[in-house]
Amino acid sequence: LEIVQIPVLQDNYVYLLRDPGTGSVAVVDPAVADAVEAELDRRQWRLTHVLNTHHHGDHVGGNLRLKQRYGATIVGPRADKARIPGIDVEVGEGEDYAFGQETARVFDVPGHTRGHIAYWFKASRALFCGDTIFSLGCGRMFEGTPPQMWASLAKLRDLPAETRVYCAHEYTESNARFAITVDPGNKALGDRVAEVKRLRAAGQPTVPSLMGVERLANPFLRADDPGLAAAVGKPANDPAAVFGEVRRRKDTF
Ligand code: ZN
Ligand code: FE
Repeated sequence: LEIVQIPVLQDNYVYLLRDPGTGSVAVVDPAVADAVEAELDRRQWRLTHVLNTHHHGDHVGGNLRLKQRYGATIVGPRADKARIPGIDVEVGEGEDYAFGQETARVFDVPGHTRGHIAYWFKASRALFCGDTIFSLGCGRMFEGTPPQMWASLAKLRDLPAETRVYCAHEYTESNARFAITVDPGNKALGDRVAEVKRLRAAGQPTVPSLMGVERLANPFLRADDPGLAAAVGKPANDPAAVFGEVRRRKDTF
């Protein structure tokens, strides 16, 4: 896949995916339509699909206008079909959705919202996870519980190390400031924080990140690490409780 990253609004990333074999073009989580249309016009690409991860306005805001202009097929979570504007195709856990000559494996990842899904393009080593994993962070639990969100994160964490994590927000710098308070001795975290500082100072995005880095550095993916459990005062045999405590601390950081 050719992948184009479009920064919109305050800190959102919208992604265009083009399959060179068929010319199919998808947009992942179009927060807005205008910036997407401008990028498509500039590249003379024609939009065929909208892939939504969850129902929030900064992920579906452009759906109806893009569907109207291009007749694009809107794909979204079956578990949340009533809240996805213009949805045509519902997908859920373990299903493969064919896009051009590639396939996206769908994961149900509830926690941020009840019906949140993620799309994994195995051949392109790309994961589009919306507001589930952020670099060095994770989404807030608006509609889920710690056991649910932890299970969702643990599922994605097991993807291959070389998987690029295309999350929907540039939150990495503030996530880094929090992460070092709960996991100060983590070398992988220190290395990533240094990289993030360098990228931001140069005006570069910190997204995508690599799953192999996130699972070592991101405290929200390390709730089953005994050292982190001890640092937040929760039992090492209860990762959901460790996760919940780390999330709680971040909410008030
Ligand atoms: Zn969201
Ligand atoms: Fe969002």
